[in-house]
Amino acid sequence: MYGKMQEHLQKELELIKDAGLFKDERIIVSPQKAEIKVKSGQEVLNFCANNYLGLSNNQKLIDRAKRALDERGYGMSSVRFICGTQDLHKELEHTISKFFGTEDTILYASCYDANGGAFQPLFTEEDAIISDELNHASIIDGVRLCKAQRYRYKNADMKDLEEKLKEAQSQRFRIIVTDGVFSMDGNAAPMDKIMELANKYEALVMIDESHSAGVVGKTGRGVTEEYNCMGQADMITGTLGKAFGGAIGGFTTGRKEIVDMLRQRSRPYLFSNSIPPVVAAAGTEAFNMLQKENTLQDKLHENVDYFVAKMKEAKFDIKPTQSAICAVMLYDAKLSQEFAAELLEEGIYVIGFYYPVVPQGEARIRVQLSAAHEREHLDKAIDAFIKVGKKLNVI
Ligand SMILES: *Cc1c(COP(=O)(O)O)cnc(C)c1O
Repeated sequence: MYGKMQEHLQKELELIKDAGLFKDERIIVSPQKAEIKVKSGQEVLNFCANNYLGLSNNQKLIDRAKRALDERGYGMSSVRFICGTQDLHKELEHTISKFFGTEDTILYASCYDANGGAFQPLFTEEDAIISDELNHASIIDGVRLCKAQRYRYKNADMKDLEEKLKEAQSQRFRIIVTDGVFSMDGNAAPMDKIMELANKYEALVMIDESHSAGVVGKTGRGVTEEYNCMGQADMITGTLGKAFGGAIGGFTTGRKEIVDMLRQRSRPYLFSNSIPPVVAAAGTEAFNMLQKENTLQDKLHENVDYFVAKMKEAKFDIKPTQSAICAVMLYDAKLSQEFAAELLEEGIYVIGFYYPVVPQGEARIRVQLSAAHEREHLDKAIDAFIKVGKKLNVI
């Protein structure tokens, strides 16, 4: 049988390649950090990791992980409700609740799982899920697993959201669902206005803070801090795979009864393995570090301000950003690929994105800044952008 399918897959793969959409994976042979070594032996500066606070290779986290490995072992070999819960897991849940000012937290193997398991236990066909059109794939998939009525509003468009809320008034419960920061533009969801509408039209609010927690807001509490509405969201999902050490793991934090119900009914939680002790321990350490001092958040914010100002000064077309994501607009798909390849030659690792990842005619290079970047790293990247920009007639 496989022969027929093989032929089919080979053809499909060729089509992906012909469209220029085939994803090749570059192999890194060093830890994840600002200066990485790739398999060809080239050393490059990394500007495309979600390592926002530079914690992926942080010595304190590594030491804490090693200690946990010695004290609690390697794996859990169980889901949480059978025998997969250690003191370390409860400690991480408490620490996350403290960080966000929420009532309780439930851990998942990833934020993909947190979003995948967020809706089906809570909502039925009587209810409405009102979702931003640019929400992450995992939210879209999670919504698909639930029988609630679906509404989609234009990205961060409060007029459209209000329309959808009006349409959904006859439903039993309504929930507005939004990413905190949208990954391709770096803009944030206007949480103050969303909260206002939620109150006016009696809706719950869920925020996915994957790109915003640790990053946005004066102390990195995310978009609820930025818009002065901490503690108002009913559910916040997030990942340990970005700002908080970058290993693996996700969570939902929020109202007590919601978390209690997820522990009873959320399928990715019930039927998938517990995160390993090393991740629970180092994750707790990461949140505690950020709770104690603001050094990394401050450095990241300074780096973003510096980079954006210099790039604007050089006349690059930069999307307004409220996060550590800086979209350098090139509009043309081919140009975005050429530009990224030239930058790599200059030792700067970034990715060019184009349709269908971003809208047609809106190709760009996405730069992700980090507290791991030193001023000299930023200057090297800016110089390389200017050099390549001139060469390719962009500036
Ligand atoms: C990265 C991301 C996720 C997935 O997180 P994982 O923990 O890697 O599964 C979910 N939602 C958003 C908005 C993200 O950016």
